[in-house]
Amino acid sequence: MAELKLKNITKKYPNGFVAVKDFNLDIADKEFIIFVGPSGCGKSTTLRMIAGLEEISSGELWIGDKLCNDVAPKDRDIAMVFQNYALYPHMTVYDNMAFGLKLRKTPKDEIDKRVREAAKILDIDHLLDRRPKALSGGQRQRVAMGRAIVREPKVFLMDEPLSNLDAKLRVQMRTEISKLHQRLQTTFIYVTHDQTEAMTLGTRIVVMKDGIIQQVDSPSNLYSKP
Ligand code: ADP
Ligand code: ADP
Repeated sequence: MAELKLKNITKKYPNGFVAVKDFNLDIADKEFIIFVGPSGCGKSTTLRMIAGLEEISSGELWIGDKLCNDVAPKDRDIAMVFQNYALYPHMTVYDNMAFGLKLRKTPKDEIDKRVREAAKILDIDHLLDRRPKALSGGQRQRVAMGRAIVREPKVFLMDEPLSNLDAKLRVQMRTEISKLHQRLQTTFIYVTHDQTEAMTLGTRIVVMKDGIIQQVDSPSNLYSKP
């Protein structure tokens, strides 16, 4: 059964611009879906509509068997990792990771367990008392992922999560994200400009242009040389 169903999703911004048009896609449990396409083709808009950060103009978003068009972001079984990490500067790593759970009134001992577990997986358990400004770019990226992991969401959304890292770290984190996907066994939707990332991570790749899906295929079919 499809974990996520996007049916004829369209986004028309208040200024009249149609950024996404009739987007149709069924995403199965545990898939690693990649959105690629030129800058401005509607990748982020689509991701943000799935997360609930942008209103859907028309069409239907189903998460599991629940129609989610009007469900608040915090009540969707989804977590998003942003390109700029969006960490709270005044909070420690621990509190950054715990914040979303506190918001949802998760019991303290459960929060503690999840934060420490996620920190261990991401190899940031020695950094829990630091504030974001005392972290490297790669470490900040891990905290941003940790904050998403502790939610134990059905679906992970990642909007160019590695684009602020240098080339070497990008390769390393790519491997880690792949391992994370295998370990968590959840659905990932990942936006990237990077063809190597798309090829190595994706189970399916969605190619977009001008707000419209051009093609959906496996990496090997999409990038095989004729
Ligand atoms: P991508 O992530 O593929 O680079 P986006 O989804 O960010 O593309 O943007 C898709 C298109 O929608 C772009 O042309 C962008 O300028 C436009 N857009 C984004 N946000 C708004 C907005 N709030 N109002 C009007 N147009 C917008
Ligand atoms: P969630 O898991 O619900 O996204 P977050 O801790 O990421 O929990 O964010 C909780 C709320 O705070 C959300 O409404 C989000 O938009 C907002 N938020 C997230 N990061 C920042 C930030 N750096 N500064 C201000 N608000 C933020």
